[in-house]
Amino acid sequence: MDTNNFIEEFIVEDLNNGRFEQVHMRFPPEPNGYLHLGHAFSICLQFTTAKKFGGKTNLRFDDTNPLVEETEYVNAIREDVKWLGFDWEDREFYASDYFDRLYAFAKQLIEQGDAYVDDQSPELIAEQKGTPTKPGTNSPFRDRSVAENLDLFERMRKGEFPDGARILRAKIDMTSPNMLMRDPLIYRIKHATHHRTGDAWCIYPMYDFAHGQSDSIENISHSVCTLEFENHRPVYNWFIEKLGIFPSRQIEFARLNFTYTVMGKRKMIQMVREGDVTGWDDPRMPTISGARRRGYPAAAIREFNDRVGVAKRDKLIDLSLLEFFVRQHLNASAKRMMAVLDPIKLTITNYPEGQTELIETANNPEDEEAGTRNLTFGRNLFIEKDDFKEEANRKYFRLKLGGMVRLKSGFIIEADEAVKDADGNIIEVKARYFPESKSGSDTSGLKPKGTIHWVHEGTAVPATINLYDRLFTDETPDSHEGKDFREFLNPNSMETIEAWIEPAAAVLPKGEVVQFLRKGYFAVDPDSTSDRQIFNRTVTLKDNYAKKRQ
Ligand code: ATP
Ligand code: MG
Repeated sequence: MDTNNFIEEFIVEDLNNGRFEQVHMRFPPEPNGYLHLGHAFSICLQFTTAKKFGGKTNLRFDDTNPLVEETEYVNAIREDVKWLGFDWEDREFYASDYFDRLYAFAKQLIEQGDAYVDDQSPELIAEQKGTPTKPGTNSPFRDRSVAENLDLFERMRKGEFPDGARILRAKIDMTSPNMLMRDPLIYRIKHATHHRTGDAWCIYPMYDFAHGQSDSIENISHSVCTLEFENHRPVYNWFIEKLGIFPSRQIEFARLNFTYTVMGKRKMIQMVREGDVTGWDDPRMPTISGARRRGYPAAAIREFNDRVGVAKRDKLIDLSLLEFFVRQHLNASAKRMMAVLDPIKLTITNYPEGQTELIETANNPEDEEAGTRNLTFGRNLFIEKDDFKEEANRKYFRLKLGGMVRLKSGFIIEADEAVKDADGNIIEVKARYFPESKSGSDTSGLKPKGTIHWVHEGTAVPATINLYDRLFTDETPDSHEGKDFREFLNPNSMETIEAWIEPAAAVLPKGEVVQFLRKGYFAVDPDSTSDRQIFNRTVTLKDNYAKKRQ
């Protein structure tokens, strides 16, 4: 089988030498926040790799810290993974479902003499840990008898001690060069209500203890995680060996990071709480739910992740690469419609007052099956303010006095007059149309260089449009020593405007993405109502960032 990366090579090796009979992977989020685009990468990686080898992927919530985990997050994560296009079937698991078994594993370690209860304060324990160059010192409680350890651990569970009074540790090696092997903490006392187990427990397993054991319980063959867990691998393997459980294999890969944003859940929570954004699913957020609200197609995210590929060194990717895939997908699928974002009146002086006619236009020239619809044309229209100039040179292909332009799918017009207000601002353009120049049956012989979009005043509908720019002004906002990442928030990352849209755009369903001709792609926001459509600009038609960078 062709392999695309080192993970697939390990898998092939393990299948060939019989270490595993089948591939079984998992995506293990902690429900302590919404998923971001880095998680999306991991999700795509786990599900597509397992599938390639005919295997399965579980969704497992790593919910061992009741203080930060919530059901709201569980639900958001389920929705996001589903939306990305992956199916965990009936394999939705929770580390908290294994609390009884994890407790039994801990007792097994105690009985084997591989774990002990330490009565010291967390501060003292930290002090004794040593440094990478200085070995740690043994706890005075390290050699307690099995019977005493069992008794104390059971009483920890019964709730006899306050938080932090005692802790269960694995008895490994306080002199190990790997700090994580220096008698890691495995069970702590925490009198807190858990989002699923309620008050059944007042002791909770630490990440290193719960995570690997959950993998083994689920017969996970390849436990693929990010690089920061590389040092944890010896601990992971030590537990497997001591407990004699299913030998899951941990493989690490590099995190994906994007320019001009931050993705850590703790930082995202801060932005949500401080009101820097409107919520987790603010279209400016690097969350999966934000990307969805902004109109990014799930398929574009999948394809992007596939193209980026898995690596062993952390990657900093320019957001415009993701936008490239977003544009490509939307170009194929989005309907084309017209909206005027910064309007000025256009009056066709030779078009009879009170008269209108219908004009046929294609819904998507890239897709014949998308069909056609009718636009209303009449005497009073709106065009973009910057599509008109009183005077301009020969390279200006839009409308100017004495110049011609085609109104998209409609007629050719020639501008005669700019009407101004008392301050000299142009408030209306007067033009004549050529009745024989209608698109599709044009016999005028006229050949204007430009085409501009427009809407018909009598039928156009007002709408709200959110325009977005980068959320941060700095490429790596969280990498500046002594500076809070929030100092780099872009104060102009969102601009809300009023626009005129053609009537068909006013009835698009929530979530649909449309191309407003010459203006970009826009997604119908879920907060839209039957009276008011709200659009979020997904992407511009061209890579503006690239232009700005030059
Ligand atoms: P964060 O540090 O951003 O809060 P996390 O790693 O604490 O994220 P988890 O819920 O523990 O979040 O992550 C679930 C899975 O997603 C883990 O396997 C983790 O390694 C992976 N993951 C998290 N961030 C990234 C990223 N930026 N790129 C790739 N994978 C990631
Ligand atoms: Mg985490």
